[in-house]
Amino acid sequence: MQVGTLEVKPGMKTRGFLETPGYANALKARVPVLIAAGEKPGPTLSVVTGQHGRELNGMEAVRRVFDQLEPATMSGTFLAVPVANPLAVRLRQQDFSDELARYLSTCRNTNMNRVWPGNAEGNVIEQLAYTIWNGIVAQADCAVDLHGWTDLSLGLVWADERERELARVFGYGIYMVSQYAGRHNHNLDTTCYDNGIPSVTAELPPQNVVHEDGICMGVRGLTNLLIHLGIVEGTVEIPEDQVYIMSDHVEYQLQAECEGLLVPVLKKGDMVAEGDLIAQIVSLETMEVAQEVRSPAQGLLYNVGFLRMEALAHSSILFGGETVALVKEVLKA
Ligand SMILES: [Zn+2]
Repeated sequence: MQVGTLEVKPGMKTRGFLETPGYANALKARVPVLIAAGEKPGPTLSVVTGQHGRELNGMEAVRRVFDQLEPATMSGTFLAVPVANPLAVRLRQQDFSDELARYLSTCRNTNMNRVWPGNAEGNVIEQLAYTIWNGIVAQADCAVDLHGWTDLSLGLVWADERERELARVFGYGIYMVSQYAGRHNHNLDTTCYDNGIPSVTAELPPQNVVHEDGICMGVRGLTNLLIHLGIVEGTVEIPEDQVYIMSDHVEYQLQAECEGLLVPVLKKGDMVAEGDLIAQIVSLETMEVAQEVRSPAQGLLYNVGFLRMEALAHSSILFGGETVALVKEVLKA
């Protein structure tokens, strides 16, 4: 197996770089690569993390897993790109060069997870995707894409229905069975699907800061996948009370009826029954409870808090009509 200029040989554990083919946006970029190749043959697992510059837990999860791998006991190969978008990461922003572009229809979107499989002659982000796709992901038998949305929502992992077992064994409390056929939206996961590579995508909240909760979700997921694929030995760990949702599951969006301070009563991940008090909205004028937000049905409290432009501007100050919480109907895995 060849990774850039490096010939990967059995038993090798090393670090290297992949470089973009040329200059674009006046930049030529390089991405770090971590490689652990088993002495015995087996499948190749690729891991991409850090497409978005505020999503950092996957990087540390990859580092911890890589540190523990021993090629002498592995059957197959671990190929990881821990900092896929080194420009956005250094900006501390989701995208390079302007993370607000994704919210403005008048701007060209520079979201890395909309340009796969990249373009050798495109802008620097398209060239990075091209480099990672051809150098790493296209060689994989299974691909992982690690993200991290805001802490207001529960971590979630998903895969196409064809590969739902990958989402299940990633070992989260909740996973989603999705449908990628015909999407062609240039996400990494749907591009994998179009090229016949099974993939799983996981969100490891929170954003902006490294947090042990998100790191541990990533370490368990990657370790479970390595075991599931037979690359390392061990036992897959899955929570006993694991639940799943289909991509078209029933979701209740609970809305604020007035302005106020949102005070959560329950937390994300709690199972709720119809009528359960989820949060209170406190009047900013009288400091009395102006609204009790109650669950309309039995389900999983997936999110509490108002998501405005993801992590860029979330706030507990709400106005009427804004979404306070999400409750999802879930199925027992
Ligand atoms: Zn992301």
